[in-house]
Amino acid sequence: MSEVQRTFVLIKPDAVRRGLVGAILARYENKGLAIEALQLRTIDGEFADRHYAEHVDASWYPPLRGYITSGPLVALVLSGPGAVEAVRTMHGATDGITAAPGSVRGDYALSNRENAVHASDSVASAEREIGLWFDAS
Ligand code: ADP
Ligand code: MG
Repeated sequence: MSEVQRTFVLIKPDAVRRGLVGAILARYENKGLAIEALQLRTIDGEFADRHYAEHVDASWYPPLRGYITSGPLVALVLSGPGAVEAVRTMHGATDGITAAPGSVRGDYALSNRENAVHASDSVASAEREIGLWFDAS
């Protein structure tokens, strides 16, 4: 049995606007992951810069910043065995066009920016992101 981990997830503004919160949450619950924290929230550009610190210098960051601040999103902490890898696998590739059918992005996105969800890419990222969103507010 893999180690129990916590991971940080966003249901991004495009998915909230489209009424997909329930459908996406159901996938995590059906998988057996536990919801440890959940918050509906709209973030500003400064907070987006902290969340996406590794990407702020990318050419595609300004439109990402506009999108992620464009409306309410759902921030979540999920836990379970191997949760970091499990959720990344469930979400699929970054670009919804090539993400595998059956993955969240494969089923709900056709964009490499407006791609429905975010998940931590490592245990260290999960700790940083959970601290940013939930422990230091
Ligand atoms: P992931 O969310 O799969 O971990 P990245 O960390 O590489 O992907 O990028 C963070 C987010 O930035 C992506 O989910 C997507 O919304 C956006 N993004 C990534 N690459 C691009 C790109 N080339 N053009 C536009 N937006 C992008
Ligand atoms: Mg990433």
